[in-house]
Amino acid sequence: MRFHIMTLFPDMVISALSDSMIGRAREKGLIGIEAVNIRDFAFNKHNKVDDYTYGGGAGMLMQAEPVYLCYEDIIKRIRAMHPEETAEKKTRVIYLTPQGRVFDQKMAVELAAEEDLILLCGHYEGIDERVLEEIVTDNVSVGDYVLTGGEIPAMLIVDAVGRLIPGVLSNSESPQTESFGNGLLEYPQYSRPEVWHDRAVPQILLSGDHAKVDRWRFEQSLQRTNQRRPDLYEKYIKEHPENK
Ligand code: SAM
Repeated sequence: MRFHIMTLFPDMVISALSDSMIGRAREKGLIGIEAVNIRDFAFNKHNKVDDYTYGGGAGMLMQAEPVYLCYEDIIKRIRAMHPEETAEKKTRVIYLTPQGRVFDQKMAVELAAEEDLILLCGHYEGIDERVLEEIVTDNVSVGDYVLTGGEIPAMLIVDAVGRLIPGVLSNSESPQTESFGNGLLEYPQYSRPEVWHDRAVPQILLSGDHAKVDRWRFEQSLQRTNQRRPDLYEKYIKEHPENK
């Protein structure tokens, strides 16, 4: 899978995505990440990509044309690599915006099925609506608050989606058993030593009885979800009333 990030701050994005698991996945060629500088497509000698908003108001707006030219450049390269990705199969273009559908694990799983994903990061007051209407397929938010730019949301999406690509996590780790995998939060976990600060690891985890451990973990998951995310718990119980 390849992520194409349209941004005014490519160094920030690339440096943050060069370490840890996502960095290793890039090195191994399991995922591709490029950050394309929208400023490179500015059409004035000062490389300026923002201007005042019509109708007045505080703040500047990113102009349509540099964003569009940057998009065209990426699409051209995607089509050169994959001639089958023509007009019929439009590459998804995600605009990171507080006005979008809120990103969650379900969306991460859905996006992990794409071959290419374009992530458009806004700045200042955002981006001229006309280019958004022309190129964006999905408006995605990372939560009900306003950030200074779309870079952190884009990095968050690359991380959450990238780790779902086969081979990125080691075999022993499965996104299926993690929080949200089955609609619940994950159970508590423990490592050595057996006793730490007078707190002992629950005896059942030392029993070697896998069926009992699985049952205990499931009950802990239910309990924890009920306490911490009653909204998720209600939804789960509605779908699985036998677990109430
Ligand atoms: N004027 C816009 C509004 O009120 O909806 C907010 C613009 S914000 C200051 C600048 C950029 O940050 C946005 O274009 C978007 O790319 C990004 N951004 C801010 N908050 C975000 C959020 N919660 N989720 C995703 N992107 C966000």
